[in-house]
Amino acid sequence: MKILAIGMNYPSHVKEMNNILSPEPVIFSKPESALLLNNKPFFYPDFSTDIQYETEIVVKIDRLGKNIAPKFAHRYYSEITVGIDFTARDLQKQCKEKGHPWEIAKAFDNSAPVGRMAVKTAHPDIQNINFHLDINGTTVQQGNTKDMIFTVDRIIAHASRFFTLKNGDLIYTGTPDGVGPVKIGDHLQAYLENELVLDFKVK
Ligand code: ZN
Repeated sequence: MKILAIGMNYPSHVKEMNNILSPEPVIFSKPESALLLNNKPFFYPDFSTDIQYETEIVVKIDRLGKNIAPKFAHRYYSEITVGIDFTARDLQKQCKEKGHPWEIAKAFDNSAPVGRMAVKTAHPDIQNINFHLDINGTTVQQGNTKDMIFTVDRIIAHASRFFTLKNGDLIYTGTPDGVGPVKIGDHLQAYLENELVLDFKVK
């Protein structure tokens, strides 16, 4: 399986990063070794001193697809959840400055904690879903998918022009504003609407 992720998909986050809006979805990927499942702890890596959370709606692909039309994209997933796109912001800044690829900042081991899947039918409008992240009991980031620049269906259509989507692939759909650092000892809890779907600690 593979993980595809979308950068800069909420205007509020584009603004906080001082970036400019992209006319097409910005896609990057993470390997399977980035997955962190079953609420296992995240071990703070030694190569960064600025690991930041990005809270995102994650869509699980459950059908093989290539060159999918936007109007048919909804047929290619039936489960969604919330995940964290951990980013080594210090390394990402260095990569950007040098014009290097940013894999070491975005795709490192366990950089993709993913929550328990929820059936899509429980959330009939994919473009109106609230999600938020609490750290140590305080809400630090919240968003609603209505604010996405590129809809889930548009992301699937665009990504499938370049990458054959396979059963089990995950798509991280971008983060709203409010990204920030984590530290050892933090307790992260992510919610899909009011349902706790991801609950883990930083060690
Ligand atoms: Zn992200």
